[in-house]
Amino acid sequence: MASGKLPIVLESSCLWFKWDPQGDIKDKSKVDSFFSRQRDSLYKADGRSAIQRLRDSQADAFAIMNVLSNGRCLKSCLQTDSNSTIWIQALGAIDHLSKLQWWSRIWVLQEVVLPRNDVIAIYGEIRAPIGLIEKSGSVLPRHYEKGECCKAFWHSLPASQRAILDRFAKIMTPLEGLRELHYSIQEDQLAMLIHYLRLTRYKKATDPRDKIFGLLSLINDCPNPVDIVPDYKQTEAQVYTNVALHIINHDRCLNRILAVCEEKASGTALPTWVPR
Ligand SMILES: [Zn+2]
Repeated sequence: MASGKLPIVLESSCLWFKWDPQGDIKDKSKVDSFFSRQRDSLYKADGRSAIQRLRDSQADAFAIMNVLSNGRCLKSCLQTDSNSTIWIQALGAIDHLSKLQWWSRIWVLQEVVLPRNDVIAIYGEIRAPIGLIEKSGSVLPRHYEKGECCKAFWHSLPASQRAILDRFAKIMTPLEGLRELHYSIQEDQLAMLIHYLRLTRYKKATDPRDKIFGLLSLINDCPNPVDIVPDYKQTEAQVYTNVALHIINHDRCLNRILAVCEEKASGTALPTWVPR
């Protein structure tokens, strides 16, 4: 998985491996280049080859992330106006990165959360710690929702650009939350499993049973082991029912389970009182 020494191909252009915390990310030059090309009125953004445009858009996307993760404002990333080709293409790269299926998979969590040290994202020719990417997305709403610093700038952006940045923030924020949860809260296995289930309910898994089994490695080190093991002889209904029963026994009431139950299609093997 992510802690191995060799890169693992997860997407055609997206690899992950463990980050050596001694390593230094040399990205300030990319930020400087992104800023200076925006300001250079003589720079012909469309005079580049297709491959160079792709490389630049990825580098510029990571320049934006680097600026945000270093605590600087979103508005400082835009040096001219939002119709700038360089700016639009950088946001296009963020949009592409956000839409990778990889982010929505349940098994991603253990690759991102479990390594004590950060992992490196390799996207095209760009390498950056995944913590930097998560942080850059999770801090975004503080600029345009909670803080006043970038609120006017945010509303000056075209709706399509706001949608890209908002989606990016919504994907990264729960990942950062999971990592914080994993390293800051130490509760019983079942209590932690409940936290993780709540945060990952809308993640995807090819096998629905992995929505449970994919979280078990995250609670390995927690006290009071819970009797839930990856057993693929069990049906989806059996796995989900077993977890629901554990939660009911833990809570000594039905409130939590019934609050997240949904109407089941007829013919489903899942009991009506068991959340999907
Ligand atoms: Zn700001």
